[in-house]
Amino acid sequence: MKCPFCKKTLVRGEKKRFENLSDHVENPNAENHPLRLTFVCDCEYSKDSFWDGQGGIYSGRNSYDHRELYRLFPSKNCHAAIDSWDEWMDNVFTFQRKIEPFMIFAKYKSSAAYRVAKFFFNPSKPKNNF
Ligand SMILES: [Zn+2]
Repeated sequence: MKCPFCKKTLVRGEKKRFENLSDHVENPNAENHPLRLTFVCDCEYSKDSFWDGQGGIYSGRNSYDHRELYRLFPSKNCHAAIDSWDEWMDNVFTFQRKIEPFMIFAKYKSSAAYRVAKFFFNPSKPKNNF
């Protein structure tokens, strides 16, 4: 996985306990979380941030201002690590939103668009790289 800001390969950080997206959905009131792998970069924009094994970014209190990051790196909705699962999903969803208005013959436009988007992005599905 690579840093979405400077494109350097992320390195392993210290293991941390944090709530990931699936905890948040499945068990939002949990108080304890297992120790998890983190990945970090030493560039200016990654200050006080880390990525999880899926490529999702977690920003700390001292990290770069979010609006400023979106202004500087506007291409994506979230700053998932490059070549990660989260980046792949972000690409699928972005493409799905783009093609959905053209699914005029499909009964369920959104799921038809999702299937088409997944078909197009399947060849570039990332492998687990840790
Ligand atoms: Zn970086």
